[in-house]
Amino acid sequence: MAHLIAEVVYRGIFQKNLAARITRGIVLSARKAGRWGIAFGRYGDSPQRNGVPAKDFAIVADTKEELEQHMARYQPKELHVTICVDDTLCKGVESWAWYGLQPINRLLLPNGHLLVTSTQSADELLKDAHKKNTPYSLWILPGKASLAGLWVYKEDHTEVRVLGALAKIAPQILSLQAVAEAIREADWGSDLKVESARKAYERVEGRPVKITEGNPETPYSFEMPKWWEMREGVTIPSLPIGKPIEGGKGYRPERSAVFKKFSTRTMRPVIDFDTCVKCTLCWLQCPDSCFDVTPEGLYDANMESCCGCGICEAVCPVGNCITMVNEAAFDDNASQWDMWRKDKDAYKAWLGGKITDKVHVARSHGFRYRGQYEEELASGELELGGAALASGIPGENADQKGLKPNVHGDKSSSIVTGVAEAPGG
Ligand code: SF4
Ligand code: SF4
Repeated sequence: MAHLIAEVVYRGIFQKNLAARITRGIVLSARKAGRWGIAFGRYGDSPQRNGVPAKDFAIVADTKEELEQHMARYQPKELHVTICVDDTLCKGVESWAWYGLQPINRLLLPNGHLLVTSTQSADELLKDAHKKNTPYSLWILPGKASLAGLWVYKEDHTEVRVLGALAKIAPQILSLQAVAEAIREADWGSDLKVESARKAYERVEGRPVKITEGNPETPYSFEMPKWWEMREGVTIPSLPIGKPIEGGKGYRPERSAVFKKFSTRTMRPVIDFDTCVKCTLCWLQCPDSCFDVTPEGLYDANMESCCGCGICEAVCPVGNCITMVNEAAFDDNASQWDMWRKDKDAYKAWLGGKITDKVHVARSHGFRYRGQYEEELASGELELGGAALASGIPGENADQKGLKPNVHGDKSSSIVTGVAEAPGG
């Protein structure tokens, strides 16, 4: 008797369809080998919100009885494989379904497998993924996060590439042959996608992770209220008004102590305080009250509560004053204004380094404008999820930052109609 339990950790809304296809593909592949399976989303993650981490699960087993045994739970508590389809989730996940920050590898069984789609190295990812008290394997499938949205699906082959990688990781349950047959027969499958799965099988690379490796931070958590401490009825206290800072020269809005939101973002704003004209627009428009007003009248985005929506960048009237940068380029949530106040020259150098960091390709939660996906595909980097496009809204800020989208007009139409060459071919 054998079984496999896997989860897909994904960005709510933006990767909802991707996660569903992967878990469904696992079950369909298992059926090709005569096994039984079920794919389902976690109840607590619905309704989803943009970018908020969420999970889908797949369970496959040799027999129906064994499958039923593992289904008789609200959700799996231990996993053989965690599939992470956005590498910035390696920093930890805070979903609607629990409280506090959970390490990406938290539910893995000893010697389980963490599969991440990423262009980063294992050492870089292990700066983010928290230490675990049992060993496991880290597998990297080269590729960028596939972020689209609820109403569109980004046909960049990520779903089949993950299935091909899984055939390498758990061949006793999912053979490459079974994966190929399932993809060919799926309503979203094709021979081209079968070829992508085979290439992923060859390209995915894993390495063992020792208990001494990983991010040493303790993920934030808090004491849950006792039942006798709860208020009557379904009421929750609203946030109080904020507090003055430095003798009333500045102001800090009150923020939730129990829901931080930073694991929602794939990008964060960096601010050039030297060019800020104190117009207040970022402070007024931020949907999460992220900005502290500093004693100088500047605006410092609090990185524990920023969800990375990019609105501040879009509304800032000063070119290059606020720039959204890939979250993977940062190791902490420290105050940028604190850094700037201590050493302005060092801050300027840090800021420039982050904005021009080419190792961490530009990205966004999803498509920002009509035609963006066609532009990405036309770049010819289908296997890596398309070109590294500028974040934000072209015309408003991408040009100013010298990050022009890569437009290949007439090539795009042939690729989106599905006659492109095989990825990586
Ligand atoms: S990206 Fe900007 S506007 Fe959006 S939550 Fe963060 S600080 Fe606020
Ligand atoms: S929108 Fe830009 S210029 Fe205006 S206060 Fe914010 S950072 Fe400064």
